[in-house]
Amino acid sequence: MGGADVVVIGAGIVGLATARAFAVERRAKVLVLETERGIAEHQTGRNSGVVHSGLYYRPGSDKAALCAAGREALFAYAAEHGIAHERCGKVVVAVEERELPALEELERRGRANGLSGLERLDRTDLARHEPGAAGTAGLYVPQTGIVDYRAVARALHDDLIAAGGQVWLDARAGRIRAAPGRVVIETSRGAVAAQLLIACAGLESDRVARRAGLAPSVRIVPFRGDYFRLAPSARALVRHLVYPVPDPELPFLGVHFTRRVDGEVEAGPNAVLAWKRAGYSRFSFSARDAAATLGYPGFWRMAPRYARVGWAEYRRAFSRRRFVAELRRLVPAVGEADLVRAGCGVRAQALDRAGRLVDDFVFAEGEGMIHVLNAPSPAATAALAIAARIAARAGHRRAGEA
Ligand SMILES: Cc1cc2nc3c(=O)[nH]c(=O)nc-3n(C[C@H](O)[C@H](O)[C@H](O)COP(=O)(O)OP(=O)(O)OC[C@H]3O[C@@H](n4cnc5c(N)ncnc54)[C@H](O)[C@@H]3O)c2cc1C
Repeated sequence: MGGADVVVIGAGIVGLATARAFAVERRAKVLVLETERGIAEHQTGRNSGVVHSGLYYRPGSDKAALCAAGREALFAYAAEHGIAHERCGKVVVAVEERELPALEELERRGRANGLSGLERLDRTDLARHEPGAAGTAGLYVPQTGIVDYRAVARALHDDLIAAGGQVWLDARAGRIRAAPGRVVIETSRGAVAAQLLIACAGLESDRVARRAGLAPSVRIVPFRGDYFRLAPSARALVRHLVYPVPDPELPFLGVHFTRRVDGEVEAGPNAVLAWKRAGYSRFSFSARDAAATLGYPGFWRMAPRYARVGWAEYRRAFSRRRFVAELRRLVPAVGEADLVRAGCGVRAQALDRAGRLVDDFVFAEGEGMIHVLNAPSPAATAALAIAARIAARAGHRRAGEA
């Protein structure tokens, strides 16, 4: 049987950052297990590439604290490792008067979360920052940036390997059992034992926790996000990042424009309830995943609450015209012909039994193990801080110690 001090499930950015923290900073023997044949194949490699400022999150929440710490750590890490990034700032645009109170609340939260240099924008200021954007008012956030998250994942992987760590690809973690002093994980490449297991399994996190004998308080519900790219002739309509004022009821930010580090401008992502956890087409369906969603009481409590907005998202996912109309609220000159369909990503969003989409990060602990149960956006931004939190929490815990 293979063995390590620490086994990490999942080679997304959270798993790799955590594995690196144990291998580099604590000199532990670390093994990462990953189902896919490459790293960062799911959320990490399919996101918007934004380094979030921490503007949106409830002051005092884990998201607020870990986003702020992770953002600065990430910018420093990217600079040290020569990874493409830019702290370019973003504007949040209030298109209608009725959005102004929510914009004010964002500004208040931003200040409470330690953001300095926030700037309220009138129409003229808005035009100065983003000439293509239209709105009655805006908020400029200088701390926001962009980065190549795949490159960050590669660098974390390389640091791990250089510190003597291992990554097993094509190695799905199956049954997990805690034995005295150790945790044994069955994998498709044989069993491994560890003193400590850290599960960072993204879209599969609730299932992995259940296989480890935990009874997680949440279920993962997948929300797909589709992207378009602006044709080269239309890229000049967006300088940096242009966001709407988000619906405060939802943990998603609304379709926005994002300049990527390669100069492309992306528009999206929407947030459509998906019927397959790792399904990257509008028609993806898995009976198992659909049954997991529909068989969960929280889903039926959530459904009436979000029925109107959920239906609107569905219709927009299948109608380019509606998608463009939403984008044109922010940047009116964008036309249907300017948009080219790009990829999509699927968010692992935790839903609780009461039917609430859980906003904050969720961690759970069992004997000799720590599970990351909810790490949606901004977890890519926050990954280095999440890793430091987990490493500190693990301390010198050993399997068998509560
Ligand atoms: C459309 C979209 C846009 C986003 N935009 C941003 C953004 O701009 N900025 C930001 O900060 N965040 C953003 N996010 C969120 C961010 O991408 C995620 O929070 C982050 O990538 C989570 O990382 P992770 O390592 O937890 O998950 P993942 O990257 O999903 O990695 C989990 C890994 O676990 C593996 N795994 C699962 N089960 C097993 C098993 N049994 N055995 C072995 N391996 C297993 C999977 O194969 C996968 O590789 C976005 C997310 C999406 C989907």
